[in-house]
Amino acid sequence: MAQRVSINISRRNGASGDAESCPLCKQLLSAAELRENFHVCPNCGHHFRVGARERVAMLADSGTWEEIAASLRSADPLEFFDLRPYPDRIEEAEYDTGLGEAMIAGTCCIHKMDVVLVAMDFSFMGGSMGSVVGEKFWRAADTAIQNRFPLVAVCASGGARMQEGILSLLQMAKTTCAVELMSRVPVPFVSILTHPTTGGVLASFATLADVIISEPGAMLCFSGPRVIEQTIKERLPDDFGLAESNLSHGQIDMIVPRSQLKDKLVQVLGMLEGGVACALEPLWEEEEGRPGRGGPLAGALGRIKALANSSWRSLKG
Ligand SMILES: [Zn+2]
Repeated sequence: MAQRVSINISRRNGASGDAESCPLCKQLLSAAELRENFHVCPNCGHHFRVGARERVAMLADSGTWEEIAASLRSADPLEFFDLRPYPDRIEEAEYDTGLGEAMIAGTCCIHKMDVVLVAMDFSFMGGSMGSVVGEKFWRAADTAIQNRFPLVAVCASGGARMQEGILSLLQMAKTTCAVELMSRVPVPFVSILTHPTTGGVLASFATLADVIISEPGAMLCFSGPRVIEQTIKERLPDDFGLAESNLSHGQIDMIVPRSQLKDKLVQVLGMLEGGVACALEPLWEEEEGRPGRGGPLAGALGRIKALANSSWRSLKG
């Protein structure tokens, strides 16, 4: 008989509201206090979750954000129904968050440097990656390639969106292909992993970046420790899946507190851009027979893209 794994979901408040108590040190913090401190507890340094729009406001220079693919909305190709129809859940998430999907994408300046920025929002259906998140990432990567801008992705996700079944799993392949195409130009790709980044997002574009930055204390793992412990019947280390553990195992490049994130990002992008400027100067002639954009790999990428494109729709038709 199949074993059952129980999952306890405790709801935590997001970054909005009048006052919140810190889940670590229990100190009561006003909304203004949190806002001034980048939504980080001034007492213990706990990083509260931040929504996608706030994240853009923290990183982008004022007045430079221009959203792309804002009108994309998920279709319901599987006519998925659990306790409620999938379209109802989407509608509720839109109402609660004011977002159209779990990711926003756009162009902006960060300390006067042109970048393409995508930010995920855990409050929108657990930051799950369905067809629209995959498509938005694809378009962001395409914009980065066309303009030779670096791409920065702020990740926060519970994984693939179960309501889209195999179509959401396909987004792992699609976003991976987008990263591959960026690396061929090349344009730099930096990912910022925030609490929590798990499942199919962690296992695809989030951890394929040239530089992987994480916020302190973020849970970064494919499956949560509670589920793994119940499955293998073994106790895991206390720091399992945490950013600090990932850093010590070489899975990420650096941990940066949120207050220093923008400055550190600019530093990293500056170094990568310098590297790209060198790489654009051809140092040797292209080898004959090397798979290029017209080769069999590109054909395969095209077919995967066409298949993965089948389940989103644009509001503009
Ligand atoms: Zn605290």
